[in-house]
Amino acid sequence: MCVNSIRGIVANDTTACDPNARPLSKRCAYTRHPMLERRKTRQITIGDDRVGRVRMGGDAPISVQTMTAGYTHDIDACVAEIERYAKAGADVVRVAVPERKDTEALRHILAQVSVPIVADVHFHYQRALEAIEAGVHKIRLNPGNITDREQVNQVIDACKERGIPIRVGVNEGSIIERKDKLRRAEELGKFFASHKSGHMIALMIAKLEEYLDIFDARDFHDVAISAKSMDAALVIDVYTEISKRFDYPLHLGVTHAGPRDTGAIRSIAALSTLLANGVGDTLRISYASDHLDEVKDGLELLYCLGKRERKGIDLIACPTCGRIQVDLFTLVKEVERILMPEITLPLKVAVMGCIVNGPGEAEGADVAVFAGDRRGIIYVQGQRVANVPEAEILDRLLLECREFEAKVKRGEATLGQKLVTIVPPDPIGELGSGVAKIRAGFVEQITIGKT
Ligand code: SF4
Repeated sequence: MCVNSIRGIVANDTTACDPNARPLSKRCAYTRHPMLERRKTRQITIGDDRVGRVRMGGDAPISVQTMTAGYTHDIDACVAEIERYAKAGADVVRVAVPERKDTEALRHILAQVSVPIVADVHFHYQRALEAIEAGVHKIRLNPGNITDREQVNQVIDACKERGIPIRVGVNEGSIIERKDKLRRAEELGKFFASHKSGHMIALMIAKLEEYLDIFDARDFHDVAISAKSMDAALVIDVYTEISKRFDYPLHLGVTHAGPRDTGAIRSIAALSTLLANGVGDTLRISYASDHLDEVKDGLELLYCLGKRERKGIDLIACPTCGRIQVDLFTLVKEVERILMPEITLPLKVAVMGCIVNGPGEAEGADVAVFAGDRRGIIYVQGQRVANVPEAEILDRLLLECREFEAKVKRGEATLGQKLVTIVPPDPIGELGSGVAKIRAGFVEQITIGKT
């Protein structure tokens, strides 16, 4: 019997179930909480022969979206912005079409971009019809701000005819009636009275049900759902509830999350919880700053949770401490700047400051350096390949990464293989670990660029 099963370790912890593993003491026993299985949803498809097709829901990979920040009618700038996001890995890009000149521009934009495009429609159902006519790949609609039901029906019918999906969004800020004060009071009163707690969740779900009834009545099911708020806890709760009630693919997001510094925490807190619980088929992280970061961070989130196969380097770096003897931050930034756009395989690269944690990380990485007194020892899959002065660390590390990627592409090496266990060098030997040792004369301080 697996000793670890006695200790309460879940069966999918394969390392823990090694029959040769040393039994853990009771004090070490733990239970790992596995990510829940992804919730089954219907699948929708967005795109065409020219830009390709992105599937959402079902067993499709979780996709990353963003939205342009510039004017859609500024065709060249809009295309450039879309392509910038596409190059960074965005699967789908949304554009706002508030005016007729925006939907007129769409036809030209669609002919030049390389990813599926969603038209974001509010208030004016005509913009949706014009966007569909222009060949857009998906419509984002809030039926709540198009008051005439017949107009919503026209949009649904046009999408049905062209096979274009619609995202139905019930953002917290847009579901509360703003024009008709009586209706607003009635709706809010009803929910505050009957849902003392969780009234906003109940209101969002009730609105969603009301909107989806319109789509059901037209026998239209090519739908994705979103229910965003700026409140991360509310986002977790509302999507969790929605996922129990509907099987449409869910578009996750924390809306108006703020600038990246704080917006990232707000977004990741909500989205990672949902994704770990198996909820979510596509996502957009929203920042009040460069939208390129929305794409980068959305992808990184999925990579970290193992929800998407990483493209490009997986960079591990130590935060540095009083033992550091090289300019590690600059080194890390340069490795990231140069290798991120260049390396296409998920190469694990570790940049570590000293021998305390360096060997451990180097062992698990494909290419690694751990530094010491103005020098760095470089490893490739656990094999020591060089010991270079600080000024040469970057170039040598880049060279080893490039050569290793080429070897993998030629089939001469495999990513993630550990060949040997790294024995750290003597702490006061070739790579010291602190100023004190230099001062004490144990190691010579090496000037940058001098071997
Ligand atoms: S690896 Fe070394 S320098 Fe980096 S944080 Fe750990 S102990 Fe400090």
